[in-house]
Amino acid sequence: MIPFVDLKAQYLSIKDEIDAAVFKALESTQFVLGSEVVALEEEFSHYCGANYGIAVNTGTSALHLALLAAGIGPGDEVITTPFTFVATVAAICYTGATPVFVDIEPNSYTIDVRQIEAAITARTKAILPVHLYGQPADMDAILDIARRYGLIVIEDAAQAHRAEYKGRRVGSIGDLGCFSFYPGKNLGAYGEGGMVVTNNPEYAAKLRCLRDWGQERKYHHVLKGYNYRMDGLQGAILRVKLRHLDAWTEARRAQAARYDQLLAAEVITPKVMPYSYHVYHVYAVRSPERDLLQQVLQQQGIQTGIHYPIPVHLQPAYSDLGYKVGDFPQAELAAQQVLSLPMYAELSPVQIKTISAALSEGISRLSWRKAG
Ligand SMILES: *Cc1c(COP(=O)(O)O)cnc(C)c1O
Repeated sequence: MIPFVDLKAQYLSIKDEIDAAVFKALESTQFVLGSEVVALEEEFSHYCGANYGIAVNTGTSALHLALLAAGIGPGDEVITTPFTFVATVAAICYTGATPVFVDIEPNSYTIDVRQIEAAITARTKAILPVHLYGQPADMDAILDIARRYGLIVIEDAAQAHRAEYKGRRVGSIGDLGCFSFYPGKNLGAYGEGGMVVTNNPEYAAKLRCLRDWGQERKYHHVLKGYNYRMDGLQGAILRVKLRHLDAWTEARRAQAARYDQLLAAEVITPKVMPYSYHVYHVYAVRSPERDLLQQVLQQQGIQTGIHYPIPVHLQPAYSDLGYKVGDFPQAELAAQQVLSLPMYAELSPVQIKTISAALSEGISRLSWRKAG
């Protein structure tokens, strides 16, 4: 069996370091925030090329607070894409603002920058691009539009730790950048976690206040805040794991190169935009026979995923936004055709060969069946 993710293999590879950090954190009894979280904020924000990092309990909270820090609320509109994890859109709704969708560009699966201007209205306050699968959105084009219309840019970098756009790390390119440390992400906690990074000291101060009950100091509540603090244990664990992220990212990129070579003739492999350093949170191939291929792989004991089978504008929970089938044809087609293959640093070249061979065999069986 080849699992879709293998968190155990990664833990075993760094067990001694992790166990020592966890015991130290337990001894310190700094269970919420504390010195390990402060050190993580410093280290991770600098890793992203940003001056400030504000650690929170989830990536969703990071998005929610980034939007609030930017002053977004009821009556405002935020432009994003429907081809993302639901949290991107949920966070906009939490503030009372309205998500406004723009279709994706089908090669990169990120927001189609040529369609953004048509979606801007007098109520638009921000653009929220998603660096989907670990590939950055076209940030220069987005920043140019934002500058011309006076909009704030908030990056959803939950899938893109260490990804680069024209040599700059994501998260620090827009006004605010949001990360998730959910266990399966490229940098994952042993529980939930998230962070907002920014170069703006006013946003940083507001974010710090909002994540801890809106307190300026203890029991002095100057904003209506939240309990969005990061656990001390997660801070300690993430600091250890951050030291390995460069090596893990290189390993993912090497896996992707192996897949590319073995699969280029069989399916549409991921397209790397000339501006990007892709970190392959997800390695998604594309085929009109997606569902059948997924079954074939499952029969061979190979787990796959679909990111995502239903675009957010067609989810029942968001029907009140008033969208319908056909509104975003590229997102809808991608949702029917993408298939995510196992992708993690610990995959072996032999496993990649096994997966690729199973996929090739599946394709030839399908075409044979069609011909017959
Ligand atoms: C994972 C993810 C989130 C949410 O992060 P959580 O830590 O699970 O709350 C937001 N946006 C995208 C694109 C994600 O992949």
